[in-house]
Amino acid sequence: MKFNTELIHGNFDGKSFLGETTAPIFQVSAFSHESPEKLEKVFNNKAPGFAYSRIGNPTVSAFEKRIADLEHGIGAVACSSGMAAVTMALLNILQSGDEVIAGSGLFGGTIDLFGDLKSFGIETKFVKHVTIDEVEPLISGKTKVIFTELIGNPALDIVDIEAVAELAHKNNIPLFIDSTTATPYLINPIDHGADVVIHSSSKYINGGGNAISGIIVDSGKFKWTSERYPQFEEYSKYGKFAFLSKLRGGIWRNVGACLAPMNAFLNNIGIETLGLRMERLCYNSLKLSEFFESAEGIEVNYPGLESSPYHELSKKYFEGKGGAIITIRAGSKERAYKLINNLKIPLSATNIGDVRTLVIHPASTIYAHSTDEQKLDAGVYDDTIRISVGIEDIDDLINDFRNAIEKID
Ligand SMILES: *Cc1c(COP(=O)(O)O)cnc(C)c1O
Repeated sequence: MKFNTELIHGNFDGKSFLGETTAPIFQVSAFSHESPEKLEKVFNNKAPGFAYSRIGNPTVSAFEKRIADLEHGIGAVACSSGMAAVTMALLNILQSGDEVIAGSGLFGGTIDLFGDLKSFGIETKFVKHVTIDEVEPLISGKTKVIFTELIGNPALDIVDIEAVAELAHKNNIPLFIDSTTATPYLINPIDHGADVVIHSSSKYINGGGNAISGIIVDSGKFKWTSERYPQFEEYSKYGKFAFLSKLRGGIWRNVGACLAPMNAFLNNIGIETLGLRMERLCYNSLKLSEFFESAEGIEVNYPGLESSPYHELSKKYFEGKGGAIITIRAGSKERAYKLINNLKIPLSATNIGDVRTLVIHPASTIYAHSTDEQKLDAGVYDDTIRISVGIEDIDDLINDFRNAIEKID
């Protein structure tokens, strides 16, 4: 099946209970069973079924199966938010004394999380660009994971995933990819060497900006040797399911990071139009960024533009498409604010991946408590505006931005 067909028909045959055409909402906390013997079996994964929604729920499970298939993984675990997914994936493999290598242009929340992990004895070494040249010198016996976004948000840098995966695997280190901004429409990171893929499904997967959620997909390919990952010793009996079994039976379930059935339901609906939305979003983004290239006093960054330093990588991995985020520089903070105030269509909001175009001034919001160095590394200047492009008609968007720019002075 091709992408859009799989989105509609993959892993849901419409026959699971009463012939319903999409997975219904199981809005319950617990599931009863006919006997204590049966409950014991279900509880201990010896029989199929559900016991308690923090541990498993059919609506959530339908969402997990769809994403696991779509991302070519062996399974997936849904979480209450993208940040919960990032946190749970990392804590599943890290312990005190371990080191992480990560890109400094990551999503602000993830950068902050690495700061939080310091109190638990986990150190993160940041590289400005996730390339072999910058990563290799930082690898040590303590390095337990390389973590990066494929298209950095908001730096919009593209990582050469195959090269970095090869380096990671040569050193027996897994590569974790936050693929939120790339989406399964542009790439399946597992096919290019990623070991674990994470999404903030609050964004493009949901698509309508109506539910917070995250998801972790495992390739099942990484060997969690007990010399390097002693916590995995008791899970080696699960073979390629070691990572997922440890996650489900351990930190994810004990922290209580589960996804609510209602939010899984909204995602199950949203995901069906991912292909249609991304096609339109990438088209709109290219057209809008081409307009910005010709606009007086505006500097534009969009990986789909031929002028972008990442255009070659966008051709290699995304068939030349550039995703749906653009950043522009307006010349000064004052000009950036005037531009935003002059806009009629985009909403001022801190989100991406909505059907609506959203704009934000990252330096004064998402990066307000970052250091100047962190801001520069993330491509956040005082005059930067981040645009999460929506599905509106492109002529309306271009006209609105044209008017807003012309009215600045
Ligand atoms: C939004 C986002 C997150 C965090 O996801 P939430 O669902 O907001 O918790 C993580 N990574 C990236 C790239 C994001 O854009």
